[in-house]
Amino acid sequence: MNTDQNNHTTPPARLLDDEAVGKTVQVVRVMGDGAFRQRLLEMGFVRGARVTVLKNAPLQDPVEYMIMGAHISLRHSEAAQIEVTDKDADICDMEDAYNGIVETEVAGANPLADDVLRVVLIGNPNCGKTSLFNQVTGAKEKVGNYGGVTVDSKEGWFSIGGRRVQLVDLPGTYSLTEYSPEEMYVRTYIRDNHPDAILNIVDAGNLERNLYLTTQVMDMNIPMVIALNMWDELEKSGDKLDVEMLSRLLGARMVPLTAYNGRGVKEVLQATMEAINESEQETRHHNVNYGTLIEDCLKELGAMCPTLDRYTVLKIIENDQHAIDLLDSQDNAQQVKKTAMEMRGRIERDFNDDIVSIITDLKYGFVRGALAEVMKPNPDRNTGETKPGYSLDRLMTNRWLALPILLVLMWLMFEATFTLGAYPQGWIESGIGWIGEWIGKALPDGILRDLIVDGIIGGVGGVLVFLPQILILFFFISLLEDSGYMARAAFIVDRIMHRVGLHGKSFIPYLIGFGCGVPAIMATRTLENRRDRLVTILTVPFMSCSARLPAYLLLVAAFFTANQGLILMSIYLIGILVAAFTSIIMSKTFLKHDKTQFVMELPPYRKPTARNATIHMWSKGKQYLQKMATIILAASIIVWALGYFPRHEGQTPQEQIENSYMGQMGKAIEPAVAPLGFNWQMGVSVLTGAAAKEIVVSTMGVLYTGESDATEESASLKEKLQTATKPNGEHVFDPIVAYSFMLFILLYFPCIAALAAIKREAGTKWMIFEIFYTTGVAWLVSFIFYQVARMV
Ligand code: GDP
Ligand code: MG
Repeated sequence: MNTDQNNHTTPPARLLDDEAVGKTVQVVRVMGDGAFRQRLLEMGFVRGARVTVLKNAPLQDPVEYMIMGAHISLRHSEAAQIEVTDKDADICDMEDAYNGIVETEVAGANPLADDVLRVVLIGNPNCGKTSLFNQVTGAKEKVGNYGGVTVDSKEGWFSIGGRRVQLVDLPGTYSLTEYSPEEMYVRTYIRDNHPDAILNIVDAGNLERNLYLTTQVMDMNIPMVIALNMWDELEKSGDKLDVEMLSRLLGARMVPLTAYNGRGVKEVLQATMEAINESEQETRHHNVNYGTLIEDCLKELGAMCPTLDRYTVLKIIENDQHAIDLLDSQDNAQQVKKTAMEMRGRIERDFNDDIVSIITDLKYGFVRGALAEVMKPNPDRNTGETKPGYSLDRLMTNRWLALPILLVLMWLMFEATFTLGAYPQGWIESGIGWIGEWIGKALPDGILRDLIVDGIIGGVGGVLVFLPQILILFFFISLLEDSGYMARAAFIVDRIMHRVGLHGKSFIPYLIGFGCGVPAIMATRTLENRRDRLVTILTVPFMSCSARLPAYLLLVAAFFTANQGLILMSIYLIGILVAAFTSIIMSKTFLKHDKTQFVMELPPYRKPTARNATIHMWSKGKQYLQKMATIILAASIIVWALGYFPRHEGQTPQEQIENSYMGQMGKAIEPAVAPLGFNWQMGVSVLTGAAAKEIVVSTMGVLYTGESDATEESASLKEKLQTATKPNGEHVFDPIVAYSFMLFILLYFPCIAALAAIKREAGTKWMIFEIFYTTGVAWLVSFIFYQVARMV
C-alpha cells in the first residue's frame, strides 16, 4: 500500500487503505454491509476510534492495524471500505456518551431450588476462559491462544458453599450477532439452558473492546459477574483501574483475576455465588441506557413480547433475523415486526445513520464513557506504542524473515514427529509382536485364536504404532496455538490462501490435516465465513494424513532405491495441489465467493506452557485411541472375517484369501482398478482402507504374506511385494504401479471417521459429495499417471 500523496484532501474522508505505515488516523465510517461491516464495527472501527497502520504482511497483503490497543489484520480490499480522517479532526463526542444504566424489572428467579446450578463462561477469544475453567474444575481442557480454539462447550463441576455447580466453557466471541457459528452457539445455548449466572471474563488490558460484549450480555438479564482477567499484565503495565467505580458504573460485580496461576479464582466464584443468591430476592437488572428515544422503543416493543428479554427485543429492532424468527411462535408476530420496522426508521432518521452503527456507537460510547472515569493509563507509557507482548512480531512477521521462519518451524515440527517418533514406534512394534506370539502360543488352534491374534492384535497393533507420532504432532500444534503464532501463520500465508479462494485461517486446519483429518475438520470452525468453511472441509482430506504414511513408507522402501525422501514429499505436494485446484474450481463454480473477510485479531505472544501442551497432547491421543478402540477394531475384525471365511480344508493362506469373500470382492472390482495398474489384491486393500487408511498395510500383509501383523517395516512383506508375480510371470509391482497406488491412497475416500466429521460439520449432502468427488479424483489422477507413465 501506501502512497501518501493524496492526503491533502482533508475533511472529505480518505480511505484507511491509502494510509502509510506508521500513521494514526481516526475512523469516520465503515462502508459495505452485512457480516463484514458488523464485524468491523464490533472490533472497534466505530466513528472516532483511532487506528494506527502497523505493517504489511510479508506478501504485502493483509495489513496489520492497531485499534483500541488490539492488533487486527485486514486485507487491502477491506481497509478500502473504511473512511478515515486526521487523528485530531473533531468528528465525534463519544467521551460524553455515557448515559448511565437503566434498571429493568424481571420476575424473581429461584435458582437455589434447582438441583443443579449452572454458570457459563462468556468472553472474547483468548481472554482466558479455558484457563479459568481448568483452574476451577481441575479438568484437563485444552487452552489455546488462537481465536476460536474452543469451539464446543466444555462442562465441568466445582463445589462451593456445599453446592455442586456446573461450569460451562462456551466458545469465545467478540459479540452476539448472527454471523459466526460461535456466536449462534452462545446465543442458542443461553436461550435454551437458562444459566443461573454468567461469568463474563474480560481481558483487563483490553477493556474497551472486551466490554463491548459485556454490554450485550447485560441486556440478557441474567445475573452476571465480570472477572478482570490478565490482572498480572495490567499491573505490570502500570495502568490504574478503579475496579469499584467501574463496577458501580456497569452495575455488575467485578473481581480481578489471573487465571493462569489461579490468583483471584476463589473471589470470582464467591462473587458468582453472591450474585446467584441475590437474584432470588433482587429482581432488577442493570442495562445500558441507550437514551430516551431507544429506551422508549424498547419499553413499547418489550410490552408487546413479554416472553423475550431486552437483548432479543433490541435485536428485533436491529432487524436481526435470528431474533425475528423467535417471534413466529407469537400471535402478534406481524404486528411486532411492523412496529419494529417503524421504530428502526424513526431511530435511523433521528441519528441520521443506520441502525447497526447507531447501536454499536452507543454501546462503545457507553464503554468509553465509563472507562474514561476509571482508567488512568500509565503516564510514562506512550499511548501509540504497541504492548510488549507484540515485540516478537518484529521477527516473526518481518518482511524477509517471516516465510523462512514459518517454513523452518513447519519443518522442525514434521522432522520431530517422524524422526523422534520412530523410536517409541519401534518399541511398540516389538511389544505387540511379543504379545501376539505369546497369546498365539497360549491359545489352542482354532477360530478364536486366529481372531484374537490375526484379527484383533494384528489389526489394532498396526494402528497403535502411530500413537507416538500423533502425540508429538499435537504437542507441537498446541505450542504454536498457545503462543499466538498460529494467528501469525494465517497472517503470513493469507495472500497465498486467498489465491486459491480461501482464508489465511484455513492454513491451520490444513496443517492439522497432515496429522489427522478429524480434528482438522473440526478446526474449520474458526472460519467465520460459511463458504470458506465448506471449501476447507471438503479439501482438507487431500492433506495426506499420518494414517496414510505407513502405506507410502512400505511402497517407497520396496520400490524406490534413490530419492526416497523426495518421492514421499512429491506425494504430499500432489495432495496440496489437488486441494488448491479443487478449491479454485469450487470458488469459481458452485461455491462462489461472497465477501470473504480477513478481520482477524493477532493476540499478544504468550509463553506457552508445557502443562497446556501436554494436556492437549493427551486429549488428542485419547481421541485417537478411542477411534482405534471402536472403528478400527470393528473394521479389523470385519476385514479379518471377510478374508477368513468361507473356510476350506487344505488351502494355503493365500489360496484361502483368494477364495474368501474379500478375495471375491477384490476380483469383482478388478476391472475398475486394472486401468490404474492395480490387481485384485490392491483393490481389496483399497476397499478395506476405507474404514481407516492404516488398514491398507495390514490388508496387504494378509494378502501377500498370510500374516496380518504386517507393518511397513515388515521385511517379509516388502520382499513379497517385490517378488510378487502375475500369472503371466511379470512382476505385479514396479515403481510406476507403486506410485500410482500411492496416488490413489492419497486421494481416494477419506476414512469413515473423517466422513463422520464432515457429516457433522457440513451435512449429509456434502459427505456424499465428498465420497464421490475424492474417489473420482483419485481414479482420474492414478489413471492419467499410470497410462502416461507406461507410454514414456
Ligand atoms: P480462551 O480462548 O478464552 O479460552 O483463553 P485461554 O484460556 O485459552 O487463554 C489464552 C492465553 O492467555 C493462553 O496463552 C493463557 O496461558 C493466557 N492466559 C490466561 N489467563 C491469563 C492471565 O491471567 N494472565 C496472563 N498473563 N496470561 C493468561
Ligand atoms: Mg478457550
